[in-house]
Amino acid sequence: MKYYTKEFFQNYWNIPETNFEMGKKYYEDVIKQYSEYYKTIKPLLHPELIKALCLHDNMVVAISFNKEIDNDDYIIYFDPERALSNTCKLVFKNPVVIKDEDITAFTDYAIHEELYLVDGKYELHLLFRRYTDDDLPRLVELIIQADDILYEIWFRNVGQCNNCGKLVEDPGMPRRTKRPLNPGQFIGGEWYCNECLK
Ligand SMILES: [Zn+2]
Repeated sequence: MKYYTKEFFQNYWNIPETNFEMGKKYYEDVIKQYSEYYKTIKPLLHPELIKALCLHDNMVVAISFNKEIDNDDYIIYFDPERALSNTCKLVFKNPVVIKDEDITAFTDYAIHEELYLVDGKYELHLLFRRYTDDDLPRLVELIIQADDILYEIWFRNVGQCNNCGKLVEDPGMPRRTKRPLNPGQFIGGEWYCNECLK
């Protein structure tokens, strides 16, 4: 990580809550710096990949990778229940693991990612916060280069209206999409938009 570093978070967490404005500015400055960099590579990215990122609070539930197998995909499964993005699976094609601080299921939550383009490959840096019994925040990092990064999205609270076909979202559930969709409900195993329910 070059922007959202462990040192950055240690400093950030050390800012007393009474200095709320100072902490906010400290965080926003780094977000701004990374965004400015990200804008320079965004036109070069696969548009679908952009949607997969922003993994804040996605909990790792499983990792599948066998380094003994040639070109084995590196797959991370996430539970995005309380997360900012809907990504439930990231697949790194033809991966080269640059750094892996022993990412572990059910304790590690993604905080931030940084994406780089290196020699025509994607290089994703992921920072995780680890929750342990001793209550001390720990940060662990994963860096993987890959020819491509694929993903799957979890659509538990989003569906298609069984009557009119519009995409609908249950507004009573945690937001699963970045942009609000038509409000609707899941009734008897089918989705219906509120318009069609009138
Ligand atoms: Zn409808």
